[in-house]
Parts: sequence; structure tokens; C-alpha cells
Amino acid sequence: TNITAHLLNLSRVCLAPHYNTSGALKSFNFLGLRSYCSNVKVRSYLQYMKRKIRPAPSPPYSHVCQVGDPVLRSHASAVDPAAVKGPEIQKVINTMVKVMRRFECVGLSAPQIGVPLRILALEYPQKMLEETPLALREARGLSMVPLRVFVNPQMRVLDGRTVVFQEACESLSGFSAAVPRYISIEVSGMKEVSWQTNGWAARIIQHEMDHLDGVLYIDRMDSKSFININWPSYNE
Ligand SMILES: [Zn+2]
Repeated sequence: TNITAHLLNLSRVCLAPHYNTSGALKSFNFLGLRSYCSNVKVRSYLQYMKRKIRPAPSPPYSHVCQVGDPVLRSHASAVDPAAVKGPEIQKVINTMVKVMRRFECVGLSAPQIGVPLRILALEYPQKMLEETPLALREARGLSMVPLRVFVNPQMRVLDGRTVVFQEACESLSGFSAAVPRYISIEVSGMKEVSWQTNGWAARIIQHEMDHLDGVLYIDRMDSKSFININWPSYNE
């Protein structure tokens, strides 16, 4: 179980940190594998009845869109400054924060909840930090980050050297890979003073900025490091 523990540690500090093994397996088997293999939409009778009563949800979703969804590959549009305080954008932001906390991911972009707008959020709670071994915290440059939301963010690289760590994404649920990221960046956005940061926070920002341009970590990863985070459990 050393490997499992190691992987759990990994996933804990990923961008989409807390994978529940059984949950991830369930969704993989029932939603991914089966429907893909048979090449037809597999829907349970229960889902069928649910759709009859309640129409399909519309964005902003309270779930995270998965790779294959065109919204994740689109170039997100800038938010109209006049609309930032309006109810529609506020609803998008509130939903992003809610989804980010529910899935315990430490960063999220609006396209991931089906909204192709340039908004990103990040938060690294103290509790999550405390659950991570000190050595890992230091190696990865983990630190507590209070909730920050950037609308129409602009990023500037402050240190062009890169560092490689395993990261994950809630839109590629159950997977992880090693990705190089710049050490230090500066980000600014509408109504946010510019923020210079490094370590894990800089990694989150770069990952979320990529989402706004339709780029996923799999486009930047060392492809041989790509793993299904539950692979050991398949051998049990
Ligand atoms: Zn992501």
C-alpha cells in the first residue's frame, strides 16, 4: 500500500486533489468505459425518468465538464466590465466557488462549469495544507491561499525557469501527469491588485490561465508520466 499512499499524497496536492477511490472508479466504469465501448449513450432508467421530469441543467453547471466537451477547447471571451457586478456574472462566480469547494479542487476556471468566459478562481485552504506532509509542502512550495477570483486575468512570467511536478485537473477526472510550470508569475485582473506569486499558487494560476485559452495540462505534460491515479486498485 506504499504506492497507494504515495499516490494519495500526490493527488492531495494536485489541482484536483481529493479523489475518492471508489467514486472515481464508479464514474470511470459506468460513465466512461461502458458508454465508450458500446459507442452508445448508456443511461439508466432512473436518469431517463429524471430527464422526463426535469430538463437537463444549463451553465453555469454545478458539475465539472469533462475532456471532450468543446467548451474546454474554446478560447474564452473577455467579460464585459459593465457586467461584472451584474447578476449573471455574479452567479457564474458564486457557482465556481461552490463547485471548487465541493470537489475540493484548489483552482477552477469558468469554462470548466460550461461558461466560456475569462474568469478563474483559486483557494488553498489551511485545512488542506495541514493534511499535507511538511516535506511535500516544502518541495512543492505549497502555502495557504485565501479565495481569489480574477476576471479577465493577465499573467506575466517573472522567472522563466520551470519546475516539473505531478498535477491533475477536475476536467480529466481520475488522471494525473507531470507538467512543467514557471517558477514565479504575476497575475492581475479586473478589480484585483496585481499579485506576484511562486510555487504551487503560480502553478495553479498557469493551469487555470491555460483553461481560458482552451489548453489542458495534457497538452504540456511529459506524456510518459500520465497515470490513472487509481491504477493500483485495479490490481487488487
Ligand atoms: Zn484544470
